[in-house]
Amino acid sequence: MVERVAGRSGRSRRIEADALEGSHSAKSSGNPVRARASDGRGLPRASHLRSASRPEVQAKTTIALVYDFDGTLSPRPMQEYGFLPKLGIDPAAFWAECTALARAERADPLITYMHLMYKKAKEKGVRVDRADLVAQGKRVQYYPGVTQWFGQIAAYVKKRGGTSGIDVKHYLVSSGLAEIVEGTSIYKNFANVFASEYWFDAYDVPYPKRVITDTGKTQYLFRINKGLEDYNESINSHMPEAQRPIPFSNMIYFGDGETDVPSMALLKKNGGAAIAVHAPDAPPGKCVELFEAGRCDFFAGADYRKGSDLFKRTCLLIDRIIADIRVKQESAGL
Ligand SMILES: [Mg+2]
Repeated sequence: MVERVAGRSGRSRRIEADALEGSHSAKSSGNPVRARASDGRGLPRASHLRSASRPEVQAKTTIALVYDFDGTLSPRPMQEYGFLPKLGIDPAAFWAECTALARAERADPLITYMHLMYKKAKEKGVRVDRADLVAQGKRVQYYPGVTQWFGQIAAYVKKRGGTSGIDVKHYLVSSGLAEIVEGTSIYKNFANVFASEYWFDAYDVPYPKRVITDTGKTQYLFRINKGLEDYNESINSHMPEAQRPIPFSNMIYFGDGETDVPSMALLKKNGGAAIAVHAPDAPPGKCVELFEAGRCDFFAGADYRKGSDLFKRTCLLIDRIIADIRVKQESAGL
């Protein structure tokens, strides 16, 4: 059961998890229970209690925050900051044409936009190579506080995690373009970026090398979960839960709309968490639908500054994950 921190009125109540501060795992604190557990022959008594049904309690100490990009970290689709202005194309008209073309051809909308971008560039005689796309990343704008967010969240996890060895990683899973993301100032903060990408020398017009659809995003959540982050590694072989480096329950997904539903649903059904965001100066709109449908734990304006509702609600979920890790660590010490 998820604890709700703030009502729809936006009023928040302060959540403290001071009980976590100063807590020690049994292993690190010389747990007296553990010290007494001997049968007189130097064998730990706990060994007599172990059975085939003993639960797997090894704690996984990495927390993963996974983000959508367009509309979540950045107010507009990333193509609108460099590519479309370079061609002199009105973004609204471009996206409307993509939608109409995809419908008419019964084509995947994401493949359609990737195709149409370069079809338009060719028609206008404008060459945009990989280096140009990367350079366009510098023009991408973010919601308030995004550039400071990563460091501040790392500091929060370090403070709350204490000596438990808990760390946090940030991942991006986007239907946008890997090349543009590579050029952004926040690229360096991600442990890995999974995004659509072009194959530039395949044909006269660049050809999609990888297209990450809404449902395809879930593959990358499994890659993070299983530690199989290289595109060349097979993802479908069974891996026991105990071998997966980042359990879904250690993940929080951030998204802004319907395209994030498969990712949010996967995490919510597997013990993870999700937060829906909306433009800070706009009504919550779609977020309310996602919240009421149980797709996300919280929603908030996309204001990433310390002290914002989004920051506080994220910290609350982090506190829950840290508590869960510490419970497992304590249990493993018995
Ligand atoms: Mg989005």
